[in-house]
Amino acid sequence: MYIESDLIPISSLQHFVFCPRQCALAYIENVWDENVLTVQGENLHRKAHLPGVETRPGLKKTFDMPLRSLNFGIVGKADVILKFDESTYVPLEYKHGKPKVKEMDTVQLCAQALCLEEMKGITIEKGLIYYFGIKKRVEVAIDNELRYKTVKAIEGVRKLFETDKTPLPIYSKRCKSCSLYNECLPRLLQKPKKVGAYMLRMLTDKSEDGENL
Ligand code: SF4
Repeated sequence: MYIESDLIPISSLQHFVFCPRQCALAYIENVWDENVLTVQGENLHRKAHLPGVETRPGLKKTFDMPLRSLNFGIVGKADVILKFDESTYVPLEYKHGKPKVKEMDTVQLCAQALCLEEMKGITIEKGLIYYFGIKKRVEVAIDNELRYKTVKAIEGVRKLFETDKTPLPIYSKRCKSCSLYNECLPRLLQKPKKVGAYMLRMLTDKSEDGENL
């Protein structure tokens, strides 16, 4: 069981799954930057709903619902929680773009489900993600595989926060859509490695030639 001060934000999980360095920059170094994608995402969230509750026969929708799990040590909010009856709850997230190859969206959704299960004493079998890019709700099974990946991501973030160190960048395709590209400077920070290798090669060559180092 974790205590309040040990809880990590559910929102950090998606950043960690996307790139541990991005997670560290945002949550350890408190660096954040708005790019087109994040601004677009926030605007879409705002348009999608306002905080509050809506009810109709057989369905209650709670917007911006606070969530917490002391078992897993996580805290956050769900965009929407759909309640069909006392034991049937479905978390619904809104995301810009399209479904992603990496599990950052589904891990976040699963973390919300874990909280809700603990808070309500129920089992959640599925969640929903509405993607504005395809204008569709995608159903996500909260199965053992996703639960395992979510727990691993929670452990990864906790370890990252405990070490309090930002990992070095690894430049890849994902960097092109990274909100923190300008702060991360993934290519620039990789150059010293190359310079280091070059210097080492030069020094080694000189040693072999019998010159002084
Ligand atoms: S620019 Fe690339 S390496 Fe740097 S934080 Fe973003 S995704 Fe990670």
